[in-house]
Amino acid sequence: MKPAPFVYRKARSLDEAVALLGSHADARLLAGGQSLVATLNMRLSAPALLIDINGLPGLDRIETKDGTVSIGALTRHVAAERSEAIARHAPLIAKAIPHIAHPAIRNRGTIGGSIAFADPAAELPACLLALGGEVEAQGPKGMRRIKADDFFKDLYETALAPGEVLTRVHLPAATADTRTGFAELARRHGDYAMVGLAATARAKGKGLSDVRLAFFGVGNTPLRARRSEEALADGDIDAAVSALDLTPHDDIQATGAEKKHLAGVLLRRVAAQLMEPRA
Ligand code: FAD
Repeated sequence: MKPAPFVYRKARSLDEAVALLGSHADARLLAGGQSLVATLNMRLSAPALLIDINGLPGLDRIETKDGTVSIGALTRHVAAERSEAIARHAPLIAKAIPHIAHPAIRNRGTIGGSIAFADPAAELPACLLALGGEVEAQGPKGMRRIKADDFFKDLYETALAPGEVLTRVHLPAATADTRTGFAELARRHGDYAMVGLAATARAKGKGLSDVRLAFFGVGNTPLRARRSEEALADGDIDAAVSALDLTPHDDIQATGAEKKHLAGVLLRRVAAQLMEPRA
């Protein structure tokens, strides 16, 4: 199918993108287009105005400063995948990105697009939540930061207000005691996950502290499993699996009961990564 007619504008600055977004109730930003163009072609969405933000200056940078890794919204997945700074300072992102789709899609898709789109089965929203990062957004009222725990509201719904452009994500840089874990189950490599888990913790003696478990593919948003986090910090993996309080719905890939079982399987795998990191 072909998309419904729309007006195309290429924004030359962030201010212009914000102004254009505010100028029309039915405007949509175009980043990598890897999710949006498919929805346009299938006529699942039909915005009147498409604002191309590709090429906005300064939004494709990865910067590390004062213990924070900042990733510009227009950073392509492939750039993050190949970034030494990400591998060193944000290893959870480095582990997750190869699971996103296929190279052709990672060449165009952006970090900001993935997080703003907030697909419940996507890897990066869960990583942002597991890392306890923040989203930076620019809107008509200026710039603000939103904590990951407050960002994902419902199915494809985020805390971004109308007229706001996601500009960067800020992540705590890994330190010597940082532990990360990532695993997902998909029918074919590159497909959206049936169930996935992104996790962070701190090494504390022979155990863990500050455990954050963010499941994806099991609800309308990425979900923390807080009771399991506590059990894992106590070093009890069986208790962490028993404490999983997820209630996934049936979908075309699996029943809710199967997904819950798979979440337990992934929790054991990720717990092993957190407790016995490879040298
Ligand atoms: P776009 O498609 O351009 O935009 C998506 C939405 O986000 C639009 O509503 C747009 O207006 C909004 N948006 C974009 N940028 C911003 C911004 N800066 N501020 C505010 N709103 C913004 N993704 C995964 O995570 N895991 C997968 O396994 C996976 N598999 C895929 C398989 C296929 C075959 C395809 C086609 C895509 C797949 N994707 C997957 C999606 C891919 O990762 C996309 O890149 C991503 O979802 C959206 O990023 P984008 O830059 O392409 O955004």
